[in-house]
Amino acid sequence: MTDPQIQALRDQVDAVNVEILQALNKRAGLVEQIGARQTELAQSHFDPKRESEMLEKLTNANQGPFSSATVRALFKEIFKASLDLEEKQDKPKLKYSRKAHPQDTSVTVSRGDLSVTFGGGAKVLIAGPCSIESEAQMAQSGAFLAASGVKLMRGGAYKPRTSPYGFQGLGVPGLELGAKTARDHQLLFVAEVMDTRDVDVAAQYADMLQIGTRNAQNFALLKAVGKAGKPVLLKRGMSSTMEEWLLTAEYVLSEGNDQIVLCERGIRTFEKWTRNTLDLSAVAVAKLETHLPVIVDVTHAAGRTDILTPLAKAALAVGADGVHIEVHPDPATALSDNQQQLDFAGFKRFLEDMGPVWG
Ligand code: PEP
Ligand code: MN
Repeated sequence: MTDPQIQALRDQVDAVNVEILQALNKRAGLVEQIGARQTELAQSHFDPKRESEMLEKLTNANQGPFSSATVRALFKEIFKASLDLEEKQDKPKLKYSRKAHPQDTSVTVSRGDLSVTFGGGAKVLIAGPCSIESEAQMAQSGAFLAASGVKLMRGGAYKPRTSPYGFQGLGVPGLELGAKTARDHQLLFVAEVMDTRDVDVAAQYADMLQIGTRNAQNFALLKAVGKAGKPVLLKRGMSSTMEEWLLTAEYVLSEGNDQIVLCERGIRTFEKWTRNTLDLSAVAVAKLETHLPVIVDVTHAAGRTDILTPLAKAALAVGADGVHIEVHPDPATALSDNQQQLDFAGFKRFLEDMGPVWG
């Protein structure tokens, strides 16, 4: 049996708890209003000067029995919870978020009568050589890819190479070759762009602009492709967290372009037997968090040709909207990524093993 005196005091404590709770939530409601206005004014929610002023006032007003240090510690927790509340309010407003836009976004790549849609239910395949190297290589590639039923051909004219002495790509003549091959074989053309100065010319020739893993946080470039009026294939940075990856999409979205396809291409881990580690959880999480289509680049994830079918099947099983794969007429002589590109026979086998999954 509890002592009646203690019980009576506890009853008062219970009542005070409710008063504190009501006061805290009243405060939280005010803080939310301040937060919303700060968001409108594009002001930061964190204001250390204001926090120290409030602490000063509170310690001056404190009559105990709590010490001033305790009062400060308690109110710092309240300030932290309030800041979290203000920052959380902004989250659903991010344009990439499903909270802001529950329906899937369809991304259409088109030129004339040709068109391919990501995110509309059909699984899309992007295939082609790592680099655009020569007229003969592209003629062979274009004819083969079109005959294989591929609609979106990739090929890099600007190549991000680890060594400055590696093949850097043909530049504008490469873009011209890619566009010509695409025209000759009724293909759509995806090409990487690495420099803000090349965005306009790349957008002139390519039907979709790719941002590679190394430029995933090149914010000037992301803004520039956001303004280029072309769909964007946005690779995940090799060390990007989910948040960083989705915020790269936000850069493009914030320029008014929602035609973005996210592409998981493996992240850097301690593992050496694959070039990168394909992060399929990221695909599943991305499908939950964003309305944008998500595809998987199995080639750059694996860095080898013998596990591409199971990786592609796994990608589609986990909800990816498509697959990206490198194919070259003669991978042994390719000027980039020659370990990981499928030859034509290997690509035919890949298509057979995958079955009729492509839209
Ligand atoms: C590429 O697609 O050719 C490429 C360089 O890919 P990533 O940026 O994913 O390495
Ligand atoms: Mn490559």
